[in-house]
Amino acid sequence: MNNSSQIKTNPYPYSSDNKRYQTMSWYLKNRYGEKCAKIPLNAGFTCPNRDGKVSFGGCTFCSAKGSGDSILSFEKPLKNQYQDNLDRIHHKWPKAKGIPYFQSFSNTYAPLEKLKEIYTPFLEDPEIFCICIATRADCLEEDFVSWISKYKKDIWIELGLQSSNDQTGKRINRGYSTKDVENALFLLKKYGVFSCIHLINSLPFEDHEMMMESARWCTVFKPDAIKIHMLHMITNTQIAKDYLNGDFKLMDQDEYCTLVCDQLEILPPEMIIERITGDGLQEDLIAPLWTTKKTSVANQVDRILFERNSWQGKYCKVDVAQEIPNNPDPSIQIGFKSKI
Ligand code: SF4
Repeated sequence: MNNSSQIKTNPYPYSSDNKRYQTMSWYLKNRYGEKCAKIPLNAGFTCPNRDGKVSFGGCTFCSAKGSGDSILSFEKPLKNQYQDNLDRIHHKWPKAKGIPYFQSFSNTYAPLEKLKEIYTPFLEDPEIFCICIATRADCLEEDFVSWISKYKKDIWIELGLQSSNDQTGKRINRGYSTKDVENALFLLKKYGVFSCIHLINSLPFEDHEMMMESARWCTVFKPDAIKIHMLHMITNTQIAKDYLNGDFKLMDQDEYCTLVCDQLEILPPEMIIERITGDGLQEDLIAPLWTTKKTSVANQVDRILFERNSWQGKYCKVDVAQEIPNNPDPSIQIGFKSKI
């Protein structure tokens, strides 16, 4: 069956093509009426897991260049970084709307006054309607969330969970607990801020069931979006040394795509799937090299879901309106802020 036949027979409601899960690009186009592009920025933050506040080593998979899909230069002022990257995007999509994405390291790791200095020019820019900020669960203070939520903009906070298993969290030197991530999500829901959780599949000693458990955690704590990544072995990281030592194996593309489909099937249909694979820094990537073919991975996921006659949420057992366990404040809105 060709692609157009797959589109016609697609039963998943939050899609206008053959995707059987809710992509971020579909969501943003429907919310803002135009193609949107996240513009990565480097605001010069560091990370408490690297500067010694929590640890010096960092997460074992994180290169010293920082987290994120691309390494960004901090040489230019933020507004110039934003404009230059937006101009570049406009060569490809002339009408695309830009979304500043504070990506490098932990972008709330500073006193409130410093954070206000960094974010206010973007929050007060009438052309900017949405801002994304990547950070750690242990770097998110209520005074910041309360302050930023007062702006009439869509604010997204991205948090790394990687795995809901605290043993794995210790093994990768994450430096915070799964409970910390739960508390951060409560805080974001309390102030009506959008949330996105990052998961990594194929972490050392995690089997299929443990990775499914991380997806189940997301069904319970209901971030608005998730990013699913394959673990990348990046040069000079601790985890790559362990891998090259033969301490653990990585999933192959077939195993990964099958697992992603299994995860998508149990996630709520309303949740946005911002990614199903990441882009490592190709020049620093040791393995797995199949992750460099992103389209092949995405196509394989589409094909598996189609062949299974399945889609995101087909086997979701959690009602969106179901209460979140240990909710510290019954007034906190559960469910998805992002639902269109
Ligand atoms: S929290 Fe992010 S930036 Fe910090 S060490 Fe871990 S992956 Fe790297």
